[in-house]
Amino acid sequence: MDTEFRVTLLGSGMPAPDPLRFGPATLIEAGPQKIMVDAGRGATMRLFQLGIPIGSIDLLLLTHFHSDHVVGLPDLWLTGWLGGKFGRRTRPMRVLGPRGTLHLAHHLEQAFSADIAIRMADEHLPAAGARIDAGEFEGSGVIHDRDGLRVTCFEVNHGDKIKPAFGYRFDYGGKSVVLSGDTRYCENLIAHAVGVDLLIHEVAMARPASMGVERIRRVIGHHSTPADAARVFAKCTPGLAVYNHLVLIDDGESGPPTVHELMDATRQGYDGAVVVGEDLMAFCP
Ligand SMILES: [Zn+2]
Ligand SMILES: [Zn+2]
Repeated sequence: MDTEFRVTLLGSGMPAPDPLRFGPATLIEAGPQKIMVDAGRGATMRLFQLGIPIGSIDLLLLTHFHSDHVVGLPDLWLTGWLGGKFGRRTRPMRVLGPRGTLHLAHHLEQAFSADIAIRMADEHLPAAGARIDAGEFEGSGVIHDRDGLRVTCFEVNHGDKIKPAFGYRFDYGGKSVVLSGDTRYCENLIAHAVGVDLLIHEVAMARPASMGVERIRRVIGHHSTPADAARVFAKCTPGLAVYNHLVLIDDGESGPPTVHELMDATRQGYDGAVVVGEDLMAFCP
């Protein structure tokens, strides 16, 4: 029996439509179970590149409702229902997330109802596969416990007006993985990530000169700077830390901070193992 535990970055980017860094989406494979966290732009294309049928995703978890994290949801849902070998989902797509997930799912079903009716009549696609089986959770706790995989959600701090926002922890075969979700420095994240084997953490960086720009200051204020992330890593001492969801802000003059600058800033506060994530990188905790 397949017992591999693997995390693949499907999209390591942010809202900018960058073909090298697709929108936020991460695939967790725990034995035969396939779970995705967020469905940013291009997630289905990355699954296709990996040869993973889009319709085979067992569960989609949402961290929060910023559009760059959910804009790929209709693609995942409806392309996964089509008849090609990339699709063929015959059961509803399961989606779990914080309060607001039911609203999103209900209105997506409404928005695409014409296409769903047409394809059922014309292509005889199964009605169940066109449904979204959505669920919501409140607060921290175990939200999935099946065949040795336990998934725990926990609240993070993405800013005073950006609520709810969550991260996730996955435990399987004695190994653990934490995904930070979008967050500033957050003690509740640390509480769930101390001693974790693999910590996938977001990061945002702008050059000091551009921090005078209100828009840039606000974006950085919603995320973890390299110094914030280094503090989290130092407290959690993960087996490996991976930067994901790289918000490297282009100030329009000197371009975005480089990966080199990001790592230099991180090294000021943490000297353990850190990898800067790229799309399609995979990690086994
Ligand atoms: Zn966000
Ligand atoms: Zn984000």
